[in-house]
Amino acid sequence: MQGWWWREVAGLVLPVDCAGCGAARVLLCAACLAALGGDPVFLARPSPRPRGLPAVHAAAVYDGPVRQVLLAHKERGALPLAGALGAALAGAVRAAAAPVGGEPGGRELALVPVPSARRQVRARGHDPARRIALAAAARLRRSGVPARVAPVLRLRRAVADQAGLGARQRRENLAGALEVRRGGARLTAGAVVVLVDDLVTTGATLAEAARAVCVAGLAQGAAPGAAVVAARSDFRGRIQSSGATDRQSCE
Ligand SMILES: [Zn+2]
Repeated sequence: MQGWWWREVAGLVLPVDCAGCGAARVLLCAACLAALGGDPVFLARPSPRPRGLPAVHAAAVYDGPVRQVLLAHKERGALPLAGALGAALAGAVRAAAAPVGGEPGGRELALVPVPSARRQVRARGHDPARRIALAAAARLRRSGVPARVAPVLRLRRAVADQAGLGARQRRENLAGALEVRRGGARLTAGAVVVLVDDLVTTGATLAEAARAVCVAGLAQGAAPGAAVVAARSDFRGRIQSSGATDRQSCE
């Protein structure tokens, strides 16, 4: 449990109930913050593993209160939760960046959010992954890690809603769907690229995002890092005791 953001958020008493468990009059109670705490960050290993999926680091298990908090932020516009979600993501980003060259005090980190479909952004009134990425980058900078958000990915065609699709259908739905915007290489030049999202389900979206980043040469031939707030409990894999996974190449 990391005290710094516990104090920051738990001390903030608002006329709402805990988004995770419904405890009265607190944005997030201590127990739900702990569940989001990223302690320890773990490797998320979807099975089957989509081709080209980089190592995905997750801060929390997508279950119980964490699931409620993510849904409240994403679907119900509980925007003050972005701070706590961003803090959780920041921990996963640090773990994801280490093996791809993002040592503390080293190169700047470019957090590349996985984009939502335009109609989803319209319906929700915001882009959840981008909002959490902004909070995570701010958190990283405050702790002395140079980081910025580089929203360089865009959907090049309409895709069906992924919910309700199986792993194979998701891959087909998303194949070739993402691309790097014009000028994207400039936005990430010299930085360590880390893909970020709120959660990983089948891994199809992050694999497609990694493909697009690799095709555009944003990570100089190396696969980007990937970090998410939450992953399913059965995806939980241990990070090697060396503290890092091997650097992967673009496939
Ligand atoms: Zn709670």
